[in-house]
Formats: sequence, structure tokens, C-alpha cells
Amino acid sequence: MSSEIIKHNPFQSMIDRFNIAADILNLDDSIRQKLQRPEKQITVNFSIVLDNGNVQNFEGYRVIHNTALGPSKGGIRYDTAVNIDEVKALAAWMTWKSAVTGIPFGGAKGGIICDPRKHSKTELEKITRAYTKALSDIFGPEKDVPAPDMGTGPDEMGWLMDEFSLLHGKPIHAVVTGKHLHSGGSLGRVEATGRGVSIISLLALEKLKIRPAKATAAIQGFGNVGLHSALFLYGKGVKIVAVSDVSEAFYNPDGLNIPELILYYNLNNKTIKGYPNSVAIKHEDLLLLEVDLLIPAAKEDVITQKNAGQIQAKIIVEGANGPVSSDADQILHEKNILVVPDILANAGGVTVSYFEWLQNSLLESWRIHQINTRLEDILEKGFDTVFRVAVKYNVTPRIAAYIIALKKVAETQSVKEFALEAPQYKQN
Ligand code: NAD
Repeated sequence: MSSEIIKHNPFQSMIDRFNIAADILNLDDSIRQKLQRPEKQITVNFSIVLDNGNVQNFEGYRVIHNTALGPSKGGIRYDTAVNIDEVKALAAWMTWKSAVTGIPFGGAKGGIICDPRKHSKTELEKITRAYTKALSDIFGPEKDVPAPDMGTGPDEMGWLMDEFSLLHGKPIHAVVTGKHLHSGGSLGRVEATGRGVSIISLLALEKLKIRPAKATAAIQGFGNVGLHSALFLYGKGVKIVAVSDVSEAFYNPDGLNIPELILYYNLNNKTIKGYPNSVAIKHEDLLLLEVDLLIPAAKEDVITQKNAGQIQAKIIVEGANGPVSSDADQILHEKNILVVPDILANAGGVTVSYFEWLQNSLLESWRIHQINTRLEDILEKGFDTVFRVAVKYNVTPRIAAYIIALKKVAETQSVKEFALEAPQYKQN
């Protein structure tokens, strides 16, 4: 493994920020060690018969980082680059995310090494069902509740719910969130992460006194998070000058017509490739555009010490998990770029997942207005708290978010596990 890969290991980035916050809180060593490591980490191997009759083996993971605040919650990723360190980092970020926003869940994440674009629907269903079977004693509404992530969506969540229910001999809707409405899903869940990213983006613009109608934005990734962020911000008058997906990156200084682009994407096999009303640019150049708002909404470690110095955006709102590696933090801070961290910025998804889980558990069905209003309240409160703590401790919003999360989880963990008094913290 090259040193470059070690440097941008997302788990290491998580630990770097964790340690800064833990030092500020003067966290005890035993609790530090406990919270740095996952509670459980499972590797599963299974095979399916492909459409052509061949048998293919797959490796999958489920990591449960922490359950102090409630059942563990976190998405399942289908991607060829899935690896255990990535899943461990993503699981820990879920713990911190729920803690920052006050959602009563712990953190988990799962993944399968596969390329979902290369499998038919039948094969994806078999993969999802086999993975569910392998983890049927781990999942459960009060134990561990998966959700969608990169490469998965309502179809996969529906198959997971169905397989889990078959194995338990009764319908158990609350075992997974992000399902289709007809499988017990919630209104507003599909677009929740993007809606949340745009709510947070508007709050960040307001902080810098930039009016949405005067703001420009570039968005990396045009999947669930990127597409919905683009649509909501477009609706608020923000000029989206650049977007990308894995195939291509586009720029239009006059602003892209996002509803038209979405129509094109839907008719073009869910890709923006070949979109005519713009100029193609290099993928890496999208991140360096002079815009007010940059939203990385694709994958980890796209902003590192290599390109951080060239970033010209005034604000970065982390739609993706871990798009900025820890070695870029200081560079961005010195450039006075406001970075709203993933564990706050993309928490809209887990928030509405929580609403879905609640509706399933209570056999209720909430109206969209109720869902969106509660989502907005939670994120606004989270944003205010993070910025208040940042001022109090004189740290970046990212470290402030870690401080809030660590303090909360450490207190609950100490009391629960060691029957100790909650840890004392230095008063600054
Ligand atoms: P998705 O699979 O729906 O979309 C991912 C998008 O990124 C696709 O458009 C893909 O083409 C693009 N992409 C991949 N590699 C790229 C590259 N090198 N350059 C440009 N674009 C690239 O996934 P998603 O659900 O939108 O997740 C995106 C990120 O947001 C992930 O980090 C995920 O963990 C995070 N996230 C997702 C949710 C959710 O509810 N789906 C919630 C919180 C965080």
C-alpha cells in the first residue's frame, strides 16, 4: 500500500478529527479507545447465480460503530472500491451525525464490493437478499437499521425488508429505511439528504451575507444527494454553474437549467453524459471553480492537501461523507473557507430515516409538510449549535461538530457501560 493511500484513508481522517476534539474535551483514554473502535465488524461472503448461469462470489461488510444513543443506523454502499476502512469511517461518521443532530440512533454502515451498473435488476435483488440473509441476526428495528447509500436506493431497501420479513415470518417494515412508499417508506425520504444539504447551504450563505439569488454553486456528483441539492438550490435562485457525475463534468457560467438537466438525466439512463447546453470541463477543475458554494456530493477524499490550496469557493458544504481529507483541513481554514462538515451537512438523510422508522414503528403515516418542517427545525438547530460551539472553543465548525458529538456519546457510553460518572471536561 502506498503512503498516499494511507494518508487518505478515510478512517484515519476520522481519527485525526476525533483526536483534536477529544484533546479539547480532555477525554479519558479508556473512553477514547472505546469510541475510536467499532463495537462490531462483520465480513460476509456469499454467492449468487448470475443471469448467464455462472456463479459469482461477493464480499460484504457491516460495521456497527456505536450503539450508546440507540439502535445503530447507516447506509449500505454498492461500489467496487468498498473496503473495510471506508466502511469503518462511514460507520463512525453515522454515530457522530446522529449525535450532532439529536437523533436517537447509533452509527453503522455496510457495503458490498460490486459494480451495481454491471448487474441486472434480478442479480441486484439476489445480491441484496443474500447479503440480508448473511446478516439477518445483526439487522433488526431495535438493533441495526440499514438505509441507502452510494449505489443503492429504494429497490434494494425493499428487497432487504422483504427478505428479512420472510426470514422472521412476519412483515417488519422498521428494519430498514429509504424504502419505496408502497413498502412502508416515508414521504420526503428520497430527497431528504439533498433538501438538508440545501437548507444548510442557505444558512451558510446567510452567514457570509450572500443572497441566494446572487450566489453561484458547483456540485460534484449527480446522484441522490447531488441531484436533489441542485434542484432545491436552483429553486431558491442559486445559479448552479457546474455539475459532474462519474462520466463527465459540465460548466455553464450563465447557470445550468437544473429541471431540464434532470429530465435529460432521466431519459439518458441516469447519467448527465452528453448534456448539450454547457461546456465539458475536466473533473478535477470543477472543484477549483471560483464559486460561492462548492458541494462535493460524490465520494471521499476529493479535496486533499494536493488541491486544497487551489480551491476558490467561499463555502464548502459536504454533501458526501468525508470529501475533505484531514490533511486539507488546516489549508482550507487558513484560506478562510467556511467548511460545513458532513456530519451536519448531509444529516437530512438520517433525520428523515428516523421519521420513517418512527412512522413504521407507530404504524403512522405523516404528511410531507410535517416531515419537511421537522427536518428544517432539526437542521437549523444543529447548525446554530455547531456555530455556537465553534465560537466558544475557537475551533472550526468541523471540530465543533465533533466536540458536540463526542461529548454526548462519551457521557452516555460512560454511564451505560462502565457505570461511571459522566466524564468531566475542561471548562474553556
Ligand atoms: P449515488 O450513487 O446516488 O450518486 C453518486 C454520484 O456520484 C453519481 O452521480 C456518480 O456518477 C457520482 N460520482 C462517482 N464518482 C465520481 C467522481 N469521481 N466524480 C464525479 N462524480 C462522481 O450516491 P449518493 O447516495 O448520492 O451518495 C453520494 C455521497 O453522499 C456519498 O458520500 C454518501 O455516503 C453520501 N450520503 C448519502 C446519503 C443518502 O441518503 N443517499 C446520505 C448522507 C450522505
